[in-house]
Amino acid sequence: MSKKVAIVGAGISGLSCAYFLSEKNYNITVFAKDFSPNITSNRAAAFWFPYHIRNDKRGINWCRHSYNFYEELSKDANTGISMKQLIKVLRDGVVEEEPVWIEFMPPGACKIIPQDELPPGVFKTYEVLVPLIETQLFLPYLQNILLDRNVVFKQKAINNFNELSSFDVIINCSALGARELCNDKTVIPVRGQIALIETDTSRPVYLDNEMPLYLVPRKDAMIVGGTYEENVFEEKTEPATIERILNIAYKTFPELKQQKVIGSWAGLRPYRNEVRVEHEAGTNIIHNYGHGGSGFTLAFGCAEEVLRLTENIK
Ligand SMILES: Cc1cc2nc3c(=O)[nH]c(=O)nc-3n(C[C@H](O)[C@H](O)[C@H](O)COP(=O)(O)OP(=O)(O)OC[C@H]3O[C@@H](n4cnc5c(N)ncnc54)[C@H](O)[C@@H]3O)c2cc1C
Repeated sequence: MSKKVAIVGAGISGLSCAYFLSEKNYNITVFAKDFSPNITSNRAAAFWFPYHIRNDKRGINWCRHSYNFYEELSKDANTGISMKQLIKVLRDGVVEEEPVWIEFMPPGACKIIPQDELPPGVFKTYEVLVPLIETQLFLPYLQNILLDRNVVFKQKAINNFNELSSFDVIINCSALGARELCNDKTVIPVRGQIALIETDTSRPVYLDNEMPLYLVPRKDAMIVGGTYEENVFEEKTEPATIERILNIAYKTFPELKQQKVIGSWAGLRPYRNEVRVEHEAGTNIIHNYGHGGSGFTLAFGCAEEVLRLTENIK
């Protein structure tokens, strides 16, 4: 008989686990307080880039695995995933542990732009080929695949794992919900605010952590980010902050002033010093939460690990 698996959470962490488990002989129910589009995963930028994870070497395999997975999916336009050029800028005088993130890159995905081609104030620029995951397209795409595979979705807040005692395995992908569900206060919100302007998909993804500034040209809008606000629990934007973000963008790229501002949003990254991917000893619970600003970058690698842990629970 197939094992009954409960997944708590319907963000990218929960859905990616459901994706791999549903390829095997499991009977899966996803429980979530909220579904797309009302979750953090919809607020992500979401380009593949290791962020918040660089000190955790387990992340190298997880990131690379996800990269390869998205690259394969990018061959089908319906997924909302495309391979995009990303320009990563380091400014003069900034000491960054830049070689660390390079270790996470698949071989050949990254090159350094020659010094004589750099604009003033810029110390080093990398050109990287990365997957861009348009959350507004990919999350519904993924959910539809799972429905076709008979995964059951139930809107329900889980307050205690005992509520899921009829399941053989529980996979906890509750992100910030783990603060209450597991009493794990080491997972904290890191708020990100972003502005949306009219898009120009001919532009590359642009990332300058010192300004800070990132530009993500999706099909529906260009994301202009953003903030990194630790321990802020209010999932809302502040007009003055959005104006500041736009002014930073205009300073670097004055031509963007021509593009109409069409919105803004805020999301809470579920940050933890280390992503928690483990089987809790003596229980049937596997945890998969705390992916911070790299939830999409890590998702399918972590989901592979969760599949392996699930197969080991007898
Ligand atoms: C502005 C911004 C930009 C970002 N950019 C990027 C990027 O470019 N690249 C990248 O890789 N990442 C990015 N991220 C990070 C990414 O969004 C997150 O890491 C990722 O969405 C986390 O996914 P998750 O599934 O773990 O959590 P969530 O999407 O928060 O999903 C959690 C799920 O658990 C459910 N839940 C919680 N508690 C309970 C409970 N008790 N009972 C039942 N259900 C529960 C929720 O309802 C929800 O369904 C960005 C984030 C922000 C805010």
